[in-house]
Amino acid sequence: MKKAGIQLDADCASGLTELAAALGTKAVLTEPADCDRYASDQSGLIGARPLAVLRPANTEEVAQALRICTRHRIAVVPQGGRTGLSGGASSPAGAVVLSTERMTGVIELDRQGMTMTVWAGTPLETVQTTAREAGLDYPVDIGARGTATIGGTIATNAGGIRVLQHGMTRQNVLGLEAVLADGTILSRLGKTMKDNSGLDLKHLLIGSEGTLGVVTRAVLQLRQNVPDSALALIAVPDHAAALSCLSVARRWFGSRICAFEGMWPDYWDFVCRRTSLAEAAISGQHGFYVLIEVETDHANGEDALETFFAELFENGFAEDGVLAKSLAETQSLWRIREAVGEVDPDFGPHINFDIAVAPSELGKFCESADDLLEGLQDAAGTLKVGHVADGNVHLLVAHDGSAEAEERIETAIYELLSDWNGAVTAEHGVGRLKVRWITHSRSREEMAVMHTLKRQLDPFGILNPGALFGVPES
Ligand SMILES: Cc1cc2nc3c(=O)[nH]c(=O)nc-3n(C[C@H](O)[C@H](O)[C@H](O)COP(=O)(O)OP(=O)(O)OC[C@H]3O[C@@H](n4cnc5c(N)ncnc54)[C@H](O)[C@@H]3O)c2cc1C
Repeated sequence: MKKAGIQLDADCASGLTELAAALGTKAVLTEPADCDRYASDQSGLIGARPLAVLRPANTEEVAQALRICTRHRIAVVPQGGRTGLSGGASSPAGAVVLSTERMTGVIELDRQGMTMTVWAGTPLETVQTTAREAGLDYPVDIGARGTATIGGTIATNAGGIRVLQHGMTRQNVLGLEAVLADGTILSRLGKTMKDNSGLDLKHLLIGSEGTLGVVTRAVLQLRQNVPDSALALIAVPDHAAALSCLSVARRWFGSRICAFEGMWPDYWDFVCRRTSLAEAAISGQHGFYVLIEVETDHANGEDALETFFAELFENGFAEDGVLAKSLAETQSLWRIREAVGEVDPDFGPHINFDIAVAPSELGKFCESADDLLEGLQDAAGTLKVGHVADGNVHLLVAHDGSAEAEERIETAIYELLSDWNGAVTAEHGVGRLKVRWITHSRSREEMAVMHTLKRQLDPFGILNPGALFGVPES
């Protein structure tokens, strides 16, 4: 296990006293037993016990807290639901955590305008449920929906299973309010789809992983809820055939395809062999498995999928397939795909790569990665599953748990990725775990501009030090 570790030069004791006076003692946790549970996120990076946990109740309190932290040079780790998978919310030593857990709730639901204004600490699932009750939908969807917060999904620009249809979080945020390190409140809670009045600063904050500001409120773009959908699992010979299925599906269903997910045989066999994870819905050995979900706004959704199936079989793109006929069958098929979050105990120590290449090249890239890993003694098996229409694969590589093996595997995969012009993180973010690999995706010039922005917005580097930008130079 890696440990987060950074110590800023902090005038902490008087800073903490000031914070308690400004926010109230109930909003500042300092007891070790209270602070411990805020140390780490779900990435496996073990964080340090924070010096304190700040729990502001509104934007003005966040501003007060950050002003004090900047004055005393106290490092601040913004935290939402701590479901992050890259260590961005794992606390380095000597930092305070700023949790949004008291800033929750829906502020306004504008049915006609199809927008929802929410506090940053609101769980994603609350937003989805509230939208659905109004006949609407917030389409960002991830497995951690029950705990992940809107602020966290914005800070990581979360993706998930419906990116193909509705884009990443960035494409679903209309307005944003955030507080900079010096306490400046940037508030643009606009509900307009069109706004060319100057630079769109919200896009700087989206995906900045708590390093440029603390997101406090957001205006989300909702969509019409289409309650009916049809789900099919298709077994195909290989990744190329899966892409052919996608082309046929696009012709049949256009923008009504809400998910197109892929599973390689290593993942399929692993998950389906363990009955505790999921039950195989198709027998025999196949080269690739696709889950496709399509919105159906009429009663004949299944018929449409069956005709689509027929075309796939006629052209030799599909070898077998099953159409979910009930909610239970739908859930059971999704369970196979979502079991990736539960493989840890059986798969042992592993690296969880979240990488992307051009969708048309994903199959070939994975073949190259497999060849490369076969030649490495350190790699003890892979699982590959992902959002194939987005070119995003979650590649899990098992190893013996040693830091040396981890280093060799990471070096090999990220160097390969660099040759393919890929992204070292497609959706989970850089956090602390991937910070040393970011230059495999970003040029020196891009990094220089990013660092200039960071220095300008957070000159003392108090916001989430060690994440995304690496350890600040002393
Ligand atoms: C089972 C499971 C499935 C997942 N599936 C997906 C998936 O499909 N796609 C995907 O993209 N991710 C996925 N994730 C990762 C994770 O859920 C997302 O990264 C999520 O967006 C994190 O939200 P959070 O509130 O838990 O943020 P945290 O983990 O608390 O924080 C994540 C980052 O955001 C920063 N941050 C948090 N709140 C704020 C704020 N208000 N202002 C500024 N910075 C802030 C933190 O400093 C940190 O850098 C999954 C995680 C799990 C455990």
